[in-house]
Amino acid sequence: MSAFLVAWGDVVSGAHGLVDQALEVDPLGGTSVAWSASLKQLKVTPIEEDERLPTCQKNKQTKGAPVPEVHAALQAFVSSKRALVLATLTPEQRTVAEAGLVTLLEHAKAHYAQKASEPVKRGLFKHAKVTASKHQYGTKSGPEVYVMECPVCRGPRQTESLSCVFCGADL
Ligand SMILES: [Zn+2]
Repeated sequence: MSAFLVAWGDVVSGAHGLVDQALEVDPLGGTSVAWSASLKQLKVTPIEEDERLPTCQKNKQTKGAPVPEVHAALQAFVSSKRALVLATLTPEQRTVAEAGLVTLLEHAKAHYAQKASEPVKRGLFKHAKVTASKHQYGTKSGPEVYVMECPVCRGPRQTESLSCVFCGADL
């Protein structure tokens, strides 16, 4: 597998990991050892203790770490991986990968905001089905893929492109 696809896969799974970690924060507006460690690693300053719950309430959250804190962490994470993702690419591939990073960040942020404001009492199975039906992009990697991907190499792709710029496969 190319260096690019390894780096890209790390970004996708890393963004998912951060969202999952932030959703597991309990109680609402609290933190966890894992989440605190991620913030520290990404050099994101945590929201102040007495601002955490009000921030969550302002964002209509039912669970997790405060939305602006998670968004800042996702932003920092994607930025930190950008150079590595783009390092080995041709100009054409870079364009697609850059757009892929932007889309991934937007979708990961939106995904967190949505998940963190869902009613907590709803059944998990029902919730999963509702989420799956809402997502139009990327059907190969399950309901929560953030970017449309090539079915062959799983690199990011653009809606209008006819072939994959990373492996040449027809789309
Ligand atoms: Zn491909």
